[in-house]
Amino acid sequence: MRIAFDLDGVLADLHTPFVRAAIRLFPDLEASVVESGDPAGETPGDEADDDDVPPVLPGVNLTSRQSAAVWRHLAGTEDFWEGLDEIEPGAIARLAALADERRWEILFITSRPTSVGRTVQRQTQRWLQDRGFPLPSVYVVHGSRGRIADALAIDVVIDDRADNCLDVVLESRAGALLVWRGALTSVPASTKRLGIAVVPTVARVLEALVEAERAADGGDLLDRLRRLFGLKPRASSPLVRS
Ligand SMILES: [Mg+2]
Repeated sequence: MRIAFDLDGVLADLHTPFVRAAIRLFPDLEASVVESGDPAGETPGDEADDDDVPPVLPGVNLTSRQSAAVWRHLAGTEDFWEGLDEIEPGAIARLAALADERRWEILFITSRPTSVGRTVQRQTQRWLQDRGFPLPSVYVVHGSRGRIADALAIDVVIDDRADNCLDVVLESRAGALLVWRGALTSVPASTKRLGIAVVPTVARVLEALVEAERAADGGDLLDRLRRLFGLKPRASSPLVRS
């Protein structure tokens, strides 16, 4: 089984340093205002296609201009990506152990912008290694996660952005698990219809993967995963040529 994990919002806590920097740069903003977005929600109307400026972080209530200033500030921090906290301490070590035990191939996929210091790939590899995942495969990529999942023949993608999960199920044969730490009422309605499972934590993701793999016993793992989350089995991806 080949599993792709997104980093920020799934394994790595970018939210806390991002909000802290926002409040330092814009002292008039109150923490409660900055964080008033849903913790894992999407930021509507921020579909900037400019690859040079990362989007406004989900769950952060800033204008595009403020967000760009925060990104500039973070990018000037030496080896910024090595300093993040793990959202669920121990989850990365647990993932590494399961991957070895169950012969999973794990790919870490991220669209992180560059920061001063080592390359994003190297910072991310060192960060994962320090938290118990030796020799991690890290792909720093931009563009549709669906096309990436298709090209890399991924079976399951774990991401905290509903739009990334949608791309995955529409443009690849992979299944998508949406890690959603906010209120379930704010999950976009299209996710369930398209067979995307919504999961509250990475710990639960790992349990579900093990459970589904055991139940599938060589059969269709994705159908097992969907059944586990009460989703309808999907015949095939509508946009994928077979
Ligand atoms: Mg993310």
